[in-house]
Amino acid sequence: MGPENVTRCPVCDGTQINDLLRIDAAPVLCNVLWPEERQARSARHGPLGVAYCEACAHVFNKEHDPDLADYGTAYDNSLHYSPLFNDYARRLSQRLVDRYDLRGKRIVEIGCGKGDFLRMLCEAGGNFGYGFDRSFEPDRVQTSDTAEIAYVQDLYTEKYAARCRPDFLCFRHVLEHIDRPIDFLVDLRRTIADRKDVVIYCEVPNALFTLKDLGIWDLIYEHCSYFTLHSLVAVFQRAGYDVVAGDEAFGGQFIWVEARAGAGQSLVTLSEHQMPSQVRLHADAFADQYGASVRAWRDRLAALTREGRRPVVWGAGSKGVTFLNVLKEFGDQIQYVVDVNPHKQGRYVPITGQRVVPAEFLRSQRVTDVLIMNPLYEKEITATIRELGLELNISTV
Ligand SMILES: [Zn+2]
Repeated sequence: MGPENVTRCPVCDGTQINDLLRIDAAPVLCNVLWPEERQARSARHGPLGVAYCEACAHVFNKEHDPDLADYGTAYDNSLHYSPLFNDYARRLSQRLVDRYDLRGKRIVEIGCGKGDFLRMLCEAGGNFGYGFDRSFEPDRVQTSDTAEIAYVQDLYTEKYAARCRPDFLCFRHVLEHIDRPIDFLVDLRRTIADRKDVVIYCEVPNALFTLKDLGIWDLIYEHCSYFTLHSLVAVFQRAGYDVVAGDEAFGGQFIWVEARAGAGQSLVTLSEHQMPSQVRLHADAFADQYGASVRAWRDRLAALTREGRRPVVWGAGSKGVTFLNVLKEFGDQIQYVVDVNPHKQGRYVPITGQRVVPAEFLRSQRVTDVLIMNPLYEKEITATIRELGLELNISTV
């Protein structure tokens, strides 16, 4: 094997890469449910080769193929539906307005989704906003009396930068989807012509939270990168920014940095538990847990099959889709996925092809077991099953 075949870390270019686990075929678009079973079964898939960089504490899919993924439409991270999250976003926007005196300024948000956060930033300081998102859906945007915002259904490029002349740029839950984060950040720096007065705010999920929480079913193809605070600071430094602040947020589930074009300095103080040697322990434990869980579920589902039982999965989010795809040899036994979201019902899971059904559907079926994907909803689901008058064996994944 020549040196060109050595896996290199997309953040620090390091070569001390440890393999954590592999999923042979994960749906490329985990969050897309298909209207027809045939389409679902032929949905695109790719391998997840999850690896850990010892030098910078970065977790990434070393087998990610950027040509497979296309975020044209239908990508929807619906975080904004939770009141807890809305409260967090509101406090964050106020903090940014105060800290960087964002009043009467020009703000760009890349990957703005439905524009909720951008609207908060604009309303809090009387700012003018430009929201960029290729999967932007104009009919889902709420209008506002107090904020002036322009939405562009395109990638943010130099062409637009010249027009928008932003004072502040933000992107939340975007960088983990980008195959070459350094290139993205270098290009971005070019669009602001290295102006040091422009502040960048970047937020991503905290990989350390996923590793510690043993969220093994949270791995999805859409995420090329799983940043830790250490690797998030490092990627900005390497791309030619000074990182002026950074921390964990939202109960440790997110991490963020604030940066300006610069010489690669960092003012962020990392705690011991965020250093690569410590993160590595969690990464190894995560890999062990993944292997053990998959083996345990294979045995369990094989036993259910022998006993002639008929399980369903409850929850058609990314956890459910990943679970079904990792254990796809049991696709004949698990025929349905229950989800209370009416937009998901009647649709089909990518590759494994289960139909998503409402809870009431279970009345007409000889279902015996319910496998709950998200333990947070166990109480609610148990109550629903009781209301339906069903006697089912309930377990959480
Ligand atoms: Zn690295």
